Amino acid sequence: MGTPQTPSTIAQAIGWAQTQGLDRLDAQLLVLHAVGRADVERAWLLAHDTDALPDAAHATLQATVRRRATGEPLAYITGRKAFYGLDLQVDARVLVPRPDTETLVDWALELLGSAPASVLDLGTGSGAIALALQHSHPDLDVLAIDYSADALAVAQANAHRLHLRVRFAQGSWLDGVQGRFDLIVSNPPYIAAQDPHLAALTHEPLQALASGDHGLDDIRTIIAQAGRHLQPGGWLLMEHGYDQAAAVRTLLVEAGFADAQSRRDLAGIERCSGARWSKFSARTKPCV
Ligand code: GLN
Repeated sequence: MGTPQTPSTIAQAIGWAQTQGLDRLDAQLLVLHAVGRADVERAWLLAHDTDALPDAAHATLQATVRRRATGEPLAYITGRKAFYGLDLQVDARVLVPRPDTETLVDWALELLGSAPASVLDLGTGSGAIALALQHSHPDLDVLAIDYSADALAVAQANAHRLHLRVRFAQGSWLDGVQGRFDLIVSNPPYIAAQDPHLAALTHEPLQALASGDHGLDDIRTIIAQAGRHLQPGGWLLMEHGYDQAAAVRTLLVEAGFADAQSRRDLAGIERCSGARWSKFSARTKPCV
């Protein structure tokens, strides 16, 4: 006989979740969640595979497996997502942090070195980038902005729980921002409004994903505004779509940035581009 309809052990529960269309990893993680063991390694499941599945876990498992089978991100179901070694709480108010975005954090930390510096994170969502930077480099002064009050509530709760002193403000990109920063980072929306990939992302906030006909509307706005808020020599780093690196570098150069370059993500795709604001390339040309 195959997997029973009502799983009675941990191992049977994993098998049952797979019969509902889940892959093995998701099945294992939802069983851990259902038995209240989300904090432990998956190896726990091997050591406990013949343990009885507690009655209370059945209903949770049924409901969460159903949600996952409809394509809802695992992170929304479990309410958490690991990012750059931090355990973030997430829900449908924010984009799920992606491992690709760790490329941006690595690059930012390389540029920052160990000296105190000011950093601005635009469109912070769950707070992932801002919190990862503040955690890795406690001397930073990090301001994180989002247009969505809902997203800011998630980010602020993460900062509070992780005891990280990032400052938050509501706003649209750099509108109303005062002063200049050593570094500006952003993972803005960058998917083209007609891109068929959006159909697979319906559980996440559209305003965090889509950005005009070519996916570049928000990136253009940020590039146009950033020079006025960077110290001379300060960098602007942005994540973007798999085929946008050349376009973003061109926009940076056209706006007067120097040293435009891109970095690859774990899949080898040019995923972030950035450049340095040079006082000599600023619109105020030196007199001759
Ligand atoms: N990288 C995400 C995706 O393609 C999109 C994130 C974003 O638009 N900033 O699923």
